[in-house]
Amino acid sequence: MGIFDKFQQLAEAREAIEKNCGDFFNIVMEDVISGTEAVVNGRTVLLAGSNNYLGLTFNAECIRAACQAVQKEGTGTTGSRMANGTFSGHVALEQELSDFFNRLNTIVFSTGYIANLAMLSTVVGSGEVILLDADCHASIYDGCRLGDAEVIRFRHNDANDLEKRLRRLTKRNTNVLIVVEGLYSMLGDRAPLADIATLKNKYGAYLLVDEAHSLGVLGQNGRGLAEETGVENSVDFVVGTFSKSLGAIGGFCTSNHPELNLVRYASRSYVFTASSSPSIIASTRTALQIMRSQPELRRRLWDNANLLYQRLKDLDFRVGPEASPIIAVRYKDAEEAFAIWDGLLERSVYVNMVLPPATPDGGALLRCSLSAAHTREQVDKIGDAFAALR
Ligand code: PMP
Repeated sequence: MGIFDKFQQLAEAREAIEKNCGDFFNIVMEDVISGTEAVVNGRTVLLAGSNNYLGLTFNAECIRAACQAVQKEGTGTTGSRMANGTFSGHVALEQELSDFFNRLNTIVFSTGYIANLAMLSTVVGSGEVILLDADCHASIYDGCRLGDAEVIRFRHNDANDLEKRLRRLTKRNTNVLIVVEGLYSMLGDRAPLADIATLKNKYGAYLLVDEAHSLGVLGQNGRGLAEETGVENSVDFVVGTFSKSLGAIGGFCTSNHPELNLVRYASRSYVFTASSSPSIIASTRTALQIMRSQPELRRRLWDNANLLYQRLKDLDFRVGPEASPIIAVRYKDAEEAFAIWDGLLERSVYVNMVLPPATPDGGALLRCSLSAAHTREQVDKIGDAFAALR
């Protein structure tokens, strides 16, 4: 027995998919032309699968801020936030996020994945309980695995199921942290946050909302589903990422609990990794300002999202339950999805192919996502490509 023998099953599964569907896991963006176009396999394709919701990856002000930061502060911090890796930009960004969310304090992490690892492995511990929506992102699951709290899942977006579990837990007299997402990353559906907030208050639990896909997308000011639903006061912790609407990489948690700051000392995910490079922080700060001052980006994003969602629905594609910048087209299996994915690429449209375990129901899906940077012509082109494959 060698250490790689246990990968045999994985290798065989991968080989079978590759034989039937080609190697779509190793697509290379050979040249990135803009926020909406890149060269793949020598062909210029329209990008319809990114998380570049506000289209800021090529924003001139963000690029200028990043370039200036590289020149002034260098390419990297080469250190943890705890040691030499806290620059004035990290602190300023934390203050700006607190100001944006109207919260007492914010911690910036190196990625959204790390933000979830840090929060879920430290704010609840032994003898306490995490109640999480079954469709939560892998980073939430991994954060739970890293910590000592008991983890109980409730059925996706099912407030009744959540209440059943909360009721049972009252006997245990323990701290409970409910964890949900704003917009779910695969189907683009919203959490029933008004009901969840009511339950949180009724049972005296804590509530963490991962607004990774809803920051900049939902709410009058772009603060996410909690803002849109009017329940921000019931949310204890908002987690988010810079890798989607803000067009960079990084993560954060913001809260009105002053004790959030103690996570800096308690979390290995904060202490034992290098902080984000100055260019990332600079472009993120600029993107945040743009997100705040240009609500028209959000409107444009939603115009595009509504247009494509309705078109695919009218074409009878099996899309997610509600219109959203994430539009999932669902299929029974990988072969069926791949045929469409390949046909779209032939028509110079790139979407993401998603297979289990990343899909919610064991099927396959084509995950399209819209951007404020898509033109009307580009949205029509995506719709036309799907229509030709119907
Ligand atoms: N939370 C959710 C809901 C996500 O979808 C993702 C990334 N897809 C993350 C967290 C991780 O974010 P990051 O890319 O910043 O690590």
